[in-house]
Amino acid sequence: MSVFTPSRRWQPAFYPFKKERFGRRFLAKTELFLKGPLFGCRMYGNCLLQETAFICPMECPKGMRNGHCGGITPSKNCYIDESRKCIWYCIYKWSEKMGREEMLLEVLPPLDWEKVGTETWSDVVRQIRKAGTTKFIKDIFSKDKLKKSKTWDSVFKTIRQPDWWQGDSDHHAPGYQRSVSEFEKRLRSGEFVIATEVTPPLSANTEKLSKDIESVKPYVTAINYTDSSYARPRMSSIVCNKVALDHDVEPVLQIAARDTTRIGLQAEIIGVNELGVFNVLCLSGDSARVGPSPRSNMTLLDIDSVQMLWLLRRMRDEGIYLDGRKMKNPPKLFLDAASPPFASDPALQALRDHKKVNAGAHFYRPILSLMFMDLTYGWNNLINGRFSIKYISLLVLLL
Ligand code: SF4
Repeated sequence: MSVFTPSRRWQPAFYPFKKERFGRRFLAKTELFLKGPLFGCRMYGNCLLQETAFICPMECPKGMRNGHCGGITPSKNCYIDESRKCIWYCIYKWSEKMGREEMLLEVLPPLDWEKVGTETWSDVVRQIRKAGTTKFIKDIFSKDKLKKSKTWDSVFKTIRQPDWWQGDSDHHAPGYQRSVSEFEKRLRSGEFVIATEVTPPLSANTEKLSKDIESVKPYVTAINYTDSSYARPRMSSIVCNKVALDHDVEPVLQIAARDTTRIGLQAEIIGVNELGVFNVLCLSGDSARVGPSPRSNMTLLDIDSVQMLWLLRRMRDEGIYLDGRKMKNPPKLFLDAASPPFASDPALQALRDHKKVNAGAHFYRPILSLMFMDLTYGWNNLINGRFSIKYISLLVLLL
């Protein structure tokens, strides 16, 4: 159990895949011995403590590195393990106490698995040397706040924001002018837009799906297909998108981070773009904990929904893969995010939503489950980085 931070219990560290040299192993053990009890450090080798109020976010069972998921309970506990507080709620509360909430807006990178289980102190020492040890010590104890934070960032930001990620807390407007889909075009023009969510079939037959599509087609601009919601497998969202295109209906591809790796995400996106799918909804996804037994992996996401948005926005606007390779024909994407309208902590939710907008979300899809009918608010002005509810779209959930 952490001494200075409110994490509930001790958790084991992650062990690296390969054997490190003795010196590094010794350093890693010392780091774990000190940072473990103090900050709940789990030795993921990609330290974010300066941004997360000195509480290790890797205590989250899903490994969320950019804020809480939609599963936080009304008593602010974690829905995967209800005996503990949601670690992101703790991070937020401590940040608030320390006046550091703004730091939670920085889009933090996914894990570099090469570093997982290893120590970070040698990186810190290397960066301090680069900045000049005497200068670093002088600036850190200086009364000039700007100087202090600049020097601090020159060391710690370089460590937490590697070249292949370069996350920040700024809003990034889309790097294109012409709408990539009819859905985007209508939202941009200020039209009242109706969209629908259709649940994919449970079997390999698409007859019922086709019927559902035809029945709502005259009334909607786009149809969104859930990606195995409640962690129960159904026909893939990609296939449903293809069926919708065959029926001349614009689809929205839903991707749950739960079943996605960074490699799979990038490959899938360039593939579906070629099919004619341009609207993409990025979600963390329900944990396998709410799904049927035997349960799938409940412990860690390779990439969370904020990271998905950041990665896809950079693919679209900068034409690069996560590993830095340039692509000749970047994908065209209209990026979508989801937000629960009845969040248990609205301030915490607003922070997370703000972060998603900064990362690349163009509009939100909060879903209110009302029996068979869902209402969503399309926040078109998010395209301009502003929060204002302008359009209301009606979602009909087809069973
Ligand atoms: S899984 Fe969700 S509710 Fe649980 S600690 Fe992580 S972010 Fe909080």
